[in-house]
Amino acid sequence: MDKPIFAGNFTQQEPIPEAGIEAAMAVLRSGRLHRYNLAPGEVGEVSLLEEDFAAFTGARYALAVASGGYAMGCALRALGVGHGDRVLSNGFTLAPVPGAIASVGAEPVFVETTEALTIDLDDLETRIATSGARTLLLSHMRGHICDMDRLMEICDAAGVQVVEDCAHTMGAEWDGVPSGRHGVIGCYSTQTYKHINSGEGGFLVSDDAHVMARAIMLSGSYMLYARHTAAPPADVFETVKYDTPNVSGRMDHLRAAILRPQLADLPREVDRWNALYAAVEEGLRNTPGLQVIERHPKERIVGSSIQFLLPGVSAPGIRAILAACAARGVELKWFGAEEPVAFTSRYDSWRYTPAQRLPKTDAILAGLIDMRLPLTFTVEDCRLIAEIIRDEVIAAQPQAAE
Ligand SMILES: *Cc1c(COP(=O)(O)O)cnc(C)c1O
Repeated sequence: MDKPIFAGNFTQQEPIPEAGIEAAMAVLRSGRLHRYNLAPGEVGEVSLLEEDFAAFTGARYALAVASGGYAMGCALRALGVGHGDRVLSNGFTLAPVPGAIASVGAEPVFVETTEALTIDLDDLETRIATSGARTLLLSHMRGHICDMDRLMEICDAAGVQVVEDCAHTMGAEWDGVPSGRHGVIGCYSTQTYKHINSGEGGFLVSDDAHVMARAIMLSGSYMLYARHTAAPPADVFETVKYDTPNVSGRMDHLRAAILRPQLADLPREVDRWNALYAAVEEGLRNTPGLQVIERHPKERIVGSSIQFLLPGVSAPGIRAILAACAARGVELKWFGAEEPVAFTSRYDSWRYTPAQRLPKTDAILAGLIDMRLPLTFTVEDCRLIAEIIRDEVIAAQPQAAE
């Protein structure tokens, strides 16, 4: 009997909702694309989106910007992180995270990774003590949220400010608190492969008026900050407007227009993602040689991608499994490859940062496999994908042991 093959496309997103397309057409017809180009009395799509996003996260203030990477760099600048400062971050994350740290002239100090793919909190304590760093850029990489109660205890006790990278946790929660609301600033991305899609884009949220006023000035508000409606009062800007540089990275009305209906739909999409995730997880569970990543009961996840470990499988063994899955239409990424490929790079490929060794992270990344779950997949698709992976992992085992 022929082996079943999966024919779906792992990078195909759903279309922009019709309401977003209509709103975008209205912006195009108006000719007013710049966020501060407003008709008399008009609030504009960008400020409306910021109001929506503040409500969505429960934050006092929100700022929409040009990308998730920009949001993180802007957050660090707004906190006064600069040249020569050290910033703690996850050893397992994506390139824009160390990039944001480097963009302000600071140096990343990477922290080890647990088998749950979260930051290692014991190692974090050690590195806070040894590095002297007073800022943590915490990456909820691939949506895995660490014990946020313990993390905040550690950081608060040491006077470490926390910025959260929520590129993969927009819509997720820890113990009922939206992801991005534990630290002083939460950063999000609206890039095509995240949870809402404007091609490029991002957000910062915060309850801190002074920090948000600085972020708004930094993002390129000129002296037009009073046109923001999810912003601190004007008198707060008086204290920062002469000494905050303009590092333009604004959002425009066109992208805001296509994001607003998607944000309104996000809670429903989260349920759809989690149904796909559950189907793959269930299909993979109890596969000999394959370890699913157990999720913490306090985590409310957004299953837009799934990871698993192949502990003890050799590099050639993993390559063979990936090739066999690819031949059956299942596209897997591997964080253990010696050369960075596509979106997947590792802390040791970011050679502009001071060299560091993270043996625990290395051991995990060596067997870490990653797969996207776009909403264009069905639960049936996900069952088939899991079956294919399971077959190929089992089939490869005698080979890998040779
Ligand atoms: C995508 C991503 C970002 C930032 O995204 P942009 O592409 O700059 O919008 C930040 N962190 C992680 C972990 C990401 O995957």
